[in-house]
Amino acid sequence: MADYNAPLKDMKLALNQVARMTQLSAMPRFEDASADMVDAILEEASRVSRDVIAPTNWEGDQQGVKLGPDGVVCPESFHGVYQQYAEGGWGSLQFDPEYGGQGMPYLLSVPVMEMWQSANLSWGLCPLLSQGAVECLYLNASDELKNIYLPKLISGEWAGTMNLTEGGAGSDLSQVRCKAEPQDDHYLISGEKIFITWGDHSLTENIVHLVLARLPDAPAGVRGISLFLVPKYLVNADGSLGERNRAGALSLEHKLGIHASPTCVMEFDGSVGYLVGEPNRGLACMFTMMNNARLGVGLQGVSISERAYQKALIFAGERIQGPAVGSREPGPIIRHGDVRRMLLTMKSLTEAARALTYDACGSLDFAEHAEDAAQREDERARAALLTPIVKGWCTEIAQEVTSLGVQIHGGMGFIEETGAAQFFRDARILPIYEGTNGIQALDLVGRKTTMDKGRALTALIAEMRATIAGAEHFSDLAAELENGVKALEVARDLLLQGYEADAQLPGAIAYNFMMLAGTVTGGWELLRQAEAAKAMQQSSDDSFYAAKQSTTRFYFAQILPRYLGFAQMINAGSATITELPEEQFSSAW
Ligand SMILES: Cc1cc2nc3c(=O)[nH]c(=O)nc-3n(C[C@H](O)[C@H](O)[C@H](O)COP(=O)(O)OP(=O)(O)OC[C@H]3O[C@@H](n4cnc5c(N)ncnc54)[C@H](O)[C@@H]3O)c2cc1C
Repeated sequence: MADYNAPLKDMKLALNQVARMTQLSAMPRFEDASADMVDAILEEASRVSRDVIAPTNWEGDQQGVKLGPDGVVCPESFHGVYQQYAEGGWGSLQFDPEYGGQGMPYLLSVPVMEMWQSANLSWGLCPLLSQGAVECLYLNASDELKNIYLPKLISGEWAGTMNLTEGGAGSDLSQVRCKAEPQDDHYLISGEKIFITWGDHSLTENIVHLVLARLPDAPAGVRGISLFLVPKYLVNADGSLGERNRAGALSLEHKLGIHASPTCVMEFDGSVGYLVGEPNRGLACMFTMMNNARLGVGLQGVSISERAYQKALIFAGERIQGPAVGSREPGPIIRHGDVRRMLLTMKSLTEAARALTYDACGSLDFAEHAEDAAQREDERARAALLTPIVKGWCTEIAQEVTSLGVQIHGGMGFIEETGAAQFFRDARILPIYEGTNGIQALDLVGRKTTMDKGRALTALIAEMRATIAGAEHFSDLAAELENGVKALEVARDLLLQGYEADAQLPGAIAYNFMMLAGTVTGGWELLRQAEAAKAMQQSSDDSFYAAKQSTTRFYFAQILPRYLGFAQMINAGSATITELPEEQFSSAW
């Protein structure tokens, strides 16, 4: 039996009731994104992800990738899958028609991307990074570079990569050492990058590397980093491919998961590169790509959670063990209370994370296209606040959800052939790359909260309070949410009032702050959907609407109370975290 079917009804509910897709469709610029068109796109993406991409997931994990004399060799099946993806125009949905895009809302590309990532996380990283590269070039590159590179990236004929990390520069990019020497109309890039996802492959005829490097006279630190476009093959004036550039994969990493995604050590050996944006402003340019990718990684958390849930659900319905309460016969394990608890934890966390991610992505569309300038500014701040919560919380819950997926399979979950273990292994990278979750948490308490004096968070809290006040069908859940919101408010005030006097406070409470924010906003998103589902149930006999209400009730009873723990840990401040001197960490040996 297929173990992945796109949860289309939940996606549509989140799109329309949380992320304001219908408001976007009503904008003249998005008149093509009618409800029927949105449905048709989602249905077709669901078919492609289920029938074409998902079947390559296990095989890709088993085959892995190799470095041959002509570069990286990836699983054979990935070529056909990529071709169908590119020919279907899937990489172009949200991009500007001037460069061959379809001009749809970015929000519409989000459930579509969710499906690719559920179907095959390793393969899905290739289009995910290409879309980030498009975004970065679109906002920062010269018209000349845009005209040459964007149409091919948008059509999927070429792929994009992101080259930040070096041996000495991981979380701390101020240590970047790659060099860029000016020569004629271009630069020569030299140095080594590590951990570069899809750094080489032959799925596409060319690869566009976006590389951080330093100009000769650049100041030290992050203010001395510039961004360069380095193609695998140089491009002739007529757009045809020219010579091979001196850039390629030196070796491949052997990893815990995502075995079919090549993670490359890249060598740039006097490679021809072109400056993107202003000199020494590379990190700011790259941030457009990183922010896009951070939401994309949060979405990967949703995707892998959904797939792990579906697999566990099938197993729980088929695996026969001892009788459940009220029966004398052996029956499927889904009838046992503890298995139901695990399945509902997986389901409710995944649905909350989905709605939260879509909501954040929808804000980016309004930040760009809302008529009112003040609204555009508010939406920008809202998306910026939600981004580290989406990246951090949705990838943390993916650890729990995929681990429960293994647990539901019992001993078979620990056996590779079952496939549940792959989701657990693949999910483990998500809290690490694109800024580890520790860095996300610091971003949330720092840039996104103390730096704006809590303005964006206070606005989000006001939105939650509006839902609470307007709750018609679930006033009991609204009262629970109010307690969670108050805890978030107390945490905000503790941070704002304490961070100047206690420099250790933000770092000490950051993780729990992020988890508190995710748990409470996740509950809020579910409550909004449950209210809508209750109303929609009156004109529909689809059991999905009743299920959404039950799932929400479960979340409020079994997941939301976690806020109490996070709040209490935040309240404990920095003392116990800073107390133990560094040398005493080993005193018990
Ligand atoms: C499979 C894979 C794919 C990747 N793909 C890419 C890619 O395509 N392009 C690319 O450029 N990079 C990529 N990376 C690199 C990835 O983004 C980095 O691994 C990540 O940013 C962390 O850097 P690091 O590994 O050097 O860890 P470190 O920076 O050494 O961090 C180690 C630990 O210390 C913590 N830490 C470090 N600094 C701080 C701080 N200031 N405050 C609090 N805690 C801190 C971190 O949270 C982390 O837990 C990839 C990595 C992997 C494993």
